[in-house]
Amino acid sequence: MSYDLSVYLKKATADKWAIPHFNVCNLEQLRAVANAAAELRAPVMIGTSEGERALFTPEGAAALVAAYEEKFCVPLFLNADHTKNVASAKAAIEAGYSSVHIDLSKLSFAENTKGVAEVVRYARKQKRKISIEGELGALATDSSTVLKSEVKIDPATFTSPEQALEFVHKTGIDRLAPAVGNYHGISKTKKNLDFARIKDLRAKLRSNVALVLHGGSGSGDAAFKKAIRAGIANIHISTELRVAYTKTLRETMKKNPDEVIPYKLTAPATEAVKKKAMEFIKLFGANGKA
Ligand SMILES: [Zn+2]
Repeated sequence: MSYDLSVYLKKATADKWAIPHFNVCNLEQLRAVANAAAELRAPVMIGTSEGERALFTPEGAAALVAAYEEKFCVPLFLNADHTKNVASAKAAIEAGYSSVHIDLSKLSFAENTKGVAEVVRYARKQKRKISIEGELGALATDSSTVLKSEVKIDPATFTSPEQALEFVHKTGIDRLAPAVGNYHGISKTKKNLDFARIKDLRAKLRSNVALVLHGGSGSGDAAFKKAIRAGIANIHISTELRVAYTKTLRETMKKNPDEVIPYKLTAPATEAVKKKAMEFIKLFGANGKA
């Protein structure tokens, strides 16, 4: 069965809900997310950064996600998250990814546009439908972890709606990841999302271009709901699943110092990730939308 991500994104944008994007770096997290999606009948994106996909091998990640999608009859879209160069994006497509986030946001506008357009052209040549996301504007942090220091957010780095329109027009992307006060990871610095900016971006872009919120972890339920109402159709969650997994694993290992069977030690952590993923699916209104 092959599902079309653009159909789900269009529905999410129109009906004001969001497709969750969960990053995974091991089999337990992947299983947990697939099970959560199946149980709630939700379309879900599963993301691997360049580092995460190296752990599975890109082909391995694609094969595993395809196997779960078939077993559970639920749309699971595998995204090559934060892909930092054109060659790596093409390799992910070749390996079977159904989506690529080509993140050249650290480059100049011209270089970003050129690289992303090249990936879009490559994707359109494939027989399969492949969704491409570009990123414009600078997020203050790169790492999905619990940060010790405060995060400095400079509104001057937020994505300009005019430039976003030009970027989308010149690249032909399906999804845009803007900088709107979001940052990767969790810290003491409150995430103050610029909802007016999200609305402006949404108003400027055609309805077939979805808005993506990165660095979702730690935003809080009310902010997520407001962001979705403002036009966000896809939300990235990584750190909160990592915290759920490692915290539970640490506790289980402490309680069972003599256990040596890995899957017995990881079972409660897997369950914790599944529970967390289900909370986000419901919060984003994606349940029952498969
Ligand atoms: Zn991200």
